[in-house]
Amino acid sequence: METPVHDVIIVGGGIAGFATALALHRLGVKSTVIEESEECRVAGSALSIWSNAWRALETLGVADSLRNQFTKLSGMDLLRNDGSLIKSLNFSEGSRDIELRELERKALVEALCNPLPDDQVVYGSRVVSVKQLEGGYTEVHCEGGQTMHTKVLIGCDGVGSVVAKWMNMKEPRYAGYVATRGIAEYPDGHNLGDRAKQILGSGVRAAFLPMNANKVYWVVVFNSSGQRLTNIDLIRKEALDYVSLWPSMITEAINRSPPETLSRRGLSDRWMWPVGGPPLYKGGVTLAGDAMHPMTPNLGQGGCCALEDAVILARSLSKVLVTTDPPAAGLPTRSQAQEMQQIEHALRSYTEERWRRMLPLAIRSNITGAVMQLDNNLVCSIRNMFISRFLTIDRFLNHTNFDCGSLS
Ligand SMILES: Cc1cc2nc3c(=O)[nH]c(=O)nc-3n(C[C@H](O)[C@H](O)[C@H](O)COP(=O)(O)OP(=O)(O)OC[C@H]3O[C@@H](n4cnc5c(N)ncnc54)[C@H](O)[C@@H]3O)c2cc1C
Repeated sequence: METPVHDVIIVGGGIAGFATALALHRLGVKSTVIEESEECRVAGSALSIWSNAWRALETLGVADSLRNQFTKLSGMDLLRNDGSLIKSLNFSEGSRDIELRELERKALVEALCNPLPDDQVVYGSRVVSVKQLEGGYTEVHCEGGQTMHTKVLIGCDGVGSVVAKWMNMKEPRYAGYVATRGIAEYPDGHNLGDRAKQILGSGVRAAFLPMNANKVYWVVVFNSSGQRLTNIDLIRKEALDYVSLWPSMITEAINRSPPETLSRRGLSDRWMWPVGGPPLYKGGVTLAGDAMHPMTPNLGQGGCCALEDAVILARSLSKVLVTTDPPAAGLPTRSQAQEMQQIEHALRSYTEERWRRMLPLAIRSNITGAVMQLDNNLVCSIRNMFISRFLTIDRFLNHTNFDCGSLS
């Protein structure tokens, strides 16, 4: 029996995978998401979701339900590790009002996945290899022997992407520091206000980010050679040791975090150069989210940009995949070769649009991290003086003005 051909297969049901499937669904294109976890993978702590991502979430039709659950932050205070203020920024003082909310990853992933028809997600299936077939379609092999054919394959399988490896992308490069994060719970309310706080030390920094009246997301980032640590008690202790003499709000938050919200990860990135590396699409195969542009989280943009990818990619693809009226009498239907040519054209336009956005952002995020992780006390004092004098909302956050546009 001949293997049926899917229009679109998406590898990975994370933010990028579900957002892309939802964007396509809104445009009338059926896709199949293949996720290796047995059910919707809602583990993980929280994410900063900035204005550029809110525009994408609005386009996807899920912004309001999320806005109702998470507080809009009014600004950001940068502090020294003795608690003294370096700089205060208000999100309404720039040329555009900035929307920042700290979202639980679970809430975001569920908001993207729940509107999808059940038959569009396959859980418990791991893609192990990919092969290009003659004529342009792609064959996808899953663990256990299942094989599928598709016109378009989108790798949304994160930093260790199997699809990116098949496309000859380099391994992401370790940035030299590790982030431990968690969600602190305050059943009686935290009364800590609605401002993000970044505390800067030497080689260590922490962020303290209210999510709503009862939860605060925190991150401690420290320079490290990158050894792995998996024991949750040791992960918590290590984070506490780094900030033991810092303002008590951060140590209290670490102690108030249930173990399942704690995670620790070495940070890495890969820059998308337009030339000199493998192309970002190959036949009908491309990437989105961390699989395409793993970036350091210093600007809090990896997930936000995955949402932008979803809208832009779905818009490009729908132009060639939405089968509208049948061809007029006497005109031929398009051949497989013509169809694949149109798909490749759509993927080229998507990847050209995305590298222009992602390359400067990944570089900027990397440089921001390098400056924030400086570990010489004198150099850090000079850095803090520069921040207090020259940092403005428009200089620091102009990348959040990006508008991925509507689906149509
Ligand atoms: C410390 C830290 C802080 C961050 N902070 C922010 C922030 O504040 N704001 C922000 O926007 N971003 C932030 N990010 C980045 C953000 O988390 C990622 O950009 C985002 O989660 C990427 O989503 P994704 O869907 O591309 O990948 P993932 O979330 O990694 O999802 C990939 C999915 O693919 C599945 N999968 C993998 N391989 C296979 C396979 N072979 N077959 C089938 N399924 C597979 C996995 O199970 C997973 O569900 C942060 C990252 C870190 C590490």
